Amino acid sequence: MKLHSTKNHRKLVSLKEAVLKSLPDDNGLYVPQQLLRLPDSFISELSNLEISEINYQVVHHLIGDDIPDGKLREIVEEAINFPAPVVHVHGEIYCLELYHGPTLAFKDFGARFMARLMGYFMENEKRHLHILVATSGDTGGAVASGFYDVDGITVTILYPSGKVSPLQEKQLTTLGKNIRAIEVEGSFDDCQALVKKAFLDQDLKDKLLLSSANSINIARLIPQTLYYFQAVAQLDNNSNKVALSVPSGNFGNLTAGLYAKKTGLPIDAFIAATNINDTFPRYIQSGNYQAMKSRTTISNAMDVGDPSNFQRIMYLYDNDVNALKQDIWSASYTDEETRMTLKRVFTDENYLMDPHGAVGYLGLKNFLKQNNGYSGIFLETAHPSKFLEVVEETIGQKVEIPERLAILKNKEKEATMMENDYNSFKNYLMAGN
Ligand SMILES: *Cc1c(COP(=O)(O)O)cnc(C)c1O
Repeated sequence: MKLHSTKNHRKLVSLKEAVLKSLPDDNGLYVPQQLLRLPDSFISELSNLEISEINYQVVHHLIGDDIPDGKLREIVEEAINFPAPVVHVHGEIYCLELYHGPTLAFKDFGARFMARLMGYFMENEKRHLHILVATSGDTGGAVASGFYDVDGITVTILYPSGKVSPLQEKQLTTLGKNIRAIEVEGSFDDCQALVKKAFLDQDLKDKLLLSSANSINIARLIPQTLYYFQAVAQLDNNSNKVALSVPSGNFGNLTAGLYAKKTGLPIDAFIAATNINDTFPRYIQSGNYQAMKSRTTISNAMDVGDPSNFQRIMYLYDNDVNALKQDIWSASYTDEETRMTLKRVFTDENYLMDPHGAVGYLGLKNFLKQNNGYSGIFLETAHPSKFLEVVEETIGQKVEIPERLAILKNKEKEATMMENDYNSFKNYLMAGN
């Protein structure tokens, strides 16, 4: 697999370089040089194939010979060792549940695959890899769990003190070994600023091999294409067209879906559903991209005002908003609409969603109202119990917490408390403790 920056398609790099470096120097993002179509016979046989076979074939198609076949199969099978079932909700509406991984969020797909890929690339390296990640919640937990105990890699997670939920905090701070947590006396933006500054710091670069684990890294997008294939394979479909609704924040998830379509997966329409952080739907309407400051909502993993993967989407469509509109329909929803929907679907259909999934459901529902002949799947990106307070308050009932989340309550938190001060952070990294 060869990749290049969105800002320079002449300079090709290997998958290893793109993954370990995360970002090209020119401030673009790495994208695949080409996305070839899968054989038609593979697509038409999808529903007869084992999930593990689909996963391997698609990843192999994308990555090619960069990794020996046996190793690649092992990486995919270990990373994606949990199901992604399609559940019928009502009428033509289905849900793809992406929360059956260890941290109950879809970010497990990306983080687990990326950890194993990086582990493989580091095997014959003398140097040690340092992953830095700032989190407002879900990313840190998935990355911590995904990289836990991987040889040759240390992960440092920065999170804003008092601003992640108690269970999310436990997911970041109770593993130990090669996972270190820093509790920053500041906001998520402060955490992100500290990480960005570290990436530009020559002293650190001389001493440490640094990399990033958020969705700017192409290694997170590759495994996310897989569940789109799994979704279509499971949709025991009549002759309807297929619509996929993606609750979106940084738009890594949607980008992966568009990559799947480009390789031949028959998805007729994508729905990009957002909360009131509506930079993308406004762009689709006006053709003008205007980033905004993010606003807080109950679907807070999507509180993004300047989606980082927008560049990749525009690259894919050659900056042509009209071409984009052929494939993507987009709308935004308020917290009130989200709560009402979450409650109504629970009461009427006996199906419980989390606030992010509810935004996806709303997008799909409205799309189906305006477009005939479709069956639709919305992506449920987190288990409802991860947003316990909001969900319980909305439905007026207790929500059961799955065992693997519940046991964290009794585990001991270990984190380094730190002021929002770059020198403290730098000293911490230089000490290499
Ligand atoms: C990260 C996240 C999203 C947004 O995904 P993007 O790829 O950033 O668009 C949606 N829902 C949940 C629960 C998340 O954690």
